[in-house]
Amino acid sequence: MTDEIHLTINGKSVQAPAGTTIHKAAQLIGISIPTICFFDHCTANAICRICVVEVHGARTLIPSCVATISEGMVVETSTPRVNLSRRTILEMLASSVDLSEAPEILSLLKEYQADQNRFPDSQRRTPELIDDNPMYIRDYEKCILCWRCVQVCADDAQYAYAINFKNRGYHTEISTFYNISMPESTCVFCGQCVGVCPTGALKPKKQWLMEKGYTSDEIMSLTRSERKKKLNAHQKTANNSDGGEQC
Ligand code: SF4
Repeated sequence: MTDEIHLTINGKSVQAPAGTTIHKAAQLIGISIPTICFFDHCTANAICRICVVEVHGARTLIPSCVATISEGMVVETSTPRVNLSRRTILEMLASSVDLSEAPEILSLLKEYQADQNRFPDSQRRTPELIDDNPMYIRDYEKCILCWRCVQVCADDAQYAYAINFKNRGYHTEISTFYNISMPESTCVFCGQCVGVCPTGALKPKKQWLMEKGYTSDEIMSLTRSERKKKLNAHQKTANNSDGGEQC
């Protein structure tokens, strides 16, 4: 029989089996704690820290996606300290990553009244878009390093281990081993990484090309080098007209 644990979240009593995370226990009584890196079908790793909460008696804020409940625990999910922490994380993300195709994060920015220009001197991540295979593109300018793609490629789903982190600190990026092209790696093009990516950093090739104005027929008929030529011409025109779009 599973031990039942009793605790209080935002003043409400809740009971859940031992081993339940604070995040799941809150869900049981209709309290939603925001998440970014967390994905129900992946192992939680507490990377983004947006899900932090205050636990009475704890010195630091606690990441609710991994911290498990304990008897008599008292949790607050939305205090000024918690909200300030979430806002700051969102402001730091917005200062360095292109979040334009991350609708969930954009709505969190609004909800927490995050100032996207709080760190005007921050260095933005601008790695080149990688188009090295027929299935999907990798636009790491939009990558928030949530780790979901790495996990589904590894023990959480596919066991292909084609991608992992490279470098450290600010220079951390998702990459293949030795930065080889995706077709040379152990990738089996299952598409699961694309499916879990929350920011558009990984995108089906066809969708990406259609967004660039290609028709289905063109996508099927043009070779990659022909497409590259066309994309370069498109890029030049866009730059000349409005200084704009990056591909
Ligand atoms: S590519 Fe997407 S899924 Fe992978 S770490 Fe970056 S944001 Fe997360």
